[in-house]
Amino acid sequence: MTTLADPVPGGRPGEAERAVALAAELAGRGVHGIVLAYVDTAGVARVKTVPVGKLAAAVSWGVGMSPVFDTFLANDAIVATDVLGSPDGDLRLFPDLDQLTVLAAQPGWAWAPVDRITQDGAPHPGCSRTFLRRMVTDAGAGHGLEFRAGIEIEWAVARADTAPDGFEPASTAPAYSAIRQIELSDYAAELLAACAAQGLDVDQFHPEYAAGQFELSVAPLDPVAAADRSVLVRQTVRAVAQRHGLRVSFAPALRGQGVGNGGHVHLSAWRDGENLHSGGDRRHGMTATAESFTAGVLAHLPALTAVTAPCPASYLRLRPSQWAGVFTAWGLETREAGLRVIRGTAGQRGQAANLEIKPVDLAANPYLALGCALAAGLDGVGGEAVLPEEITGDPAGFDPADAEARGVRRLPVSLAEAVGEFRADPVLHKALGTVLTDAVTAVREGEIMAVDGLDDEHVAAAYRWKY
Ligand code: GLU
Ligand code: MG
Repeated sequence: MTTLADPVPGGRPGEAERAVALAAELAGRGVHGIVLAYVDTAGVARVKTVPVGKLAAAVSWGVGMSPVFDTFLANDAIVATDVLGSPDGDLRLFPDLDQLTVLAAQPGWAWAPVDRITQDGAPHPGCSRTFLRRMVTDAGAGHGLEFRAGIEIEWAVARADTAPDGFEPASTAPAYSAIRQIELSDYAAELLAACAAQGLDVDQFHPEYAAGQFELSVAPLDPVAAADRSVLVRQTVRAVAQRHGLRVSFAPALRGQGVGNGGHVHLSAWRDGENLHSGGDRRHGMTATAESFTAGVLAHLPALTAVTAPCPASYLRLRPSQWAGVFTAWGLETREAGLRVIRGTAGQRGQAANLEIKPVDLAANPYLALGCALAAGLDGVGGEAVLPEEITGDPAGFDPADAEARGVRRLPVSLAEAVGEFRADPVLHKALGTVLTDAVTAVREGEIMAVDGLDDEHVAAAYRWKY
């Protein structure tokens, strides 16, 4: 379980001593530097690093970083609002020692996610990891709920020796094929070895649908740890690829057309050690709380897409009949509704049952995506929201009048439409607070402007190598 307390100047009790011992151990294992990892509002993974000897100083006093990164765009342009984007000020990055991991595919390096606090010692209101820690704390205090979460990771593998901006898949073998697994066998095996060495509990790894695409999933964890893991898995997937002359992209769409890279989120609500998505008297074994949680996520799904599908290229992926789940609907084991209820296999359901949220990609900041999904679901729990009738099949084929009558709507077809929905969602604003709401809105509007007038192919190209 992630430590939910905020970092404090001087360090949490005992942490400085722990860091001194850890740094000595790391140095003995050949580690020279610690990657301090965070994800910006645009979803770009950014880092600072410190030498291993400065680990204790970092957990005690943090490492400096400008707050201006809150309004960076994926192309490194900076947008400004009345609240954000000023060149002034400084923040402190505090690494989380519980998540510190020696990187198997980057010899000499260890990695840790960070929280950001102000120089006065207060949590930074624009820190997405702090936001998610707070959402998890509030779910426990306000509803007696704990959550388990997982984020699926899909990516495309390209050869590194091709045109820098282009995309030439490293394998053109069929979807899910043995050929693709064989063609990238050494890469794939080293990736599994690196994950194992780093304590990443891989559940599955397979060639996916799109050209050169793979998918890896890890076992569920508490939401903050799950978000941390999704960042670490991507760092590992990329670092191993580089050692094999390969290059990877987690961008939502590699090209203007076709199936993209998803980052489906899995969530389950638990109370007193019991999974509320199993063993209940509601549909498919859900309890009343799990149904209301699902109803809450469903009701907020159009606004959530501004957080979970944050990039103009996200809307190249979010098209019907591509398994991205682009309708406001839910169903049992359905792949075309926004929400898929997973009951699990008989005998395992108490552990396995969960809710899958599909319109999520890996341009999303995982801390914001999980925190906002929790806010949406908890709004449903608080209001005892009623889950509508389920669907089966692909809503793209529904009669329009029938779909309308059942509340099955297409999710936003553009980032501009998603931002419009987000602007009108007070529940997400309240959860995020004014600073993060402002950051999300400003960065999304900046991304919209950045690709103004570009056709689909050029939009895909603009983000292809940013994620
Ligand atoms: N690649 C699909 C997406 O964009 C998901 C495929 C799957 O269901 O795993 O979400
Ligand atoms: Mg997949």
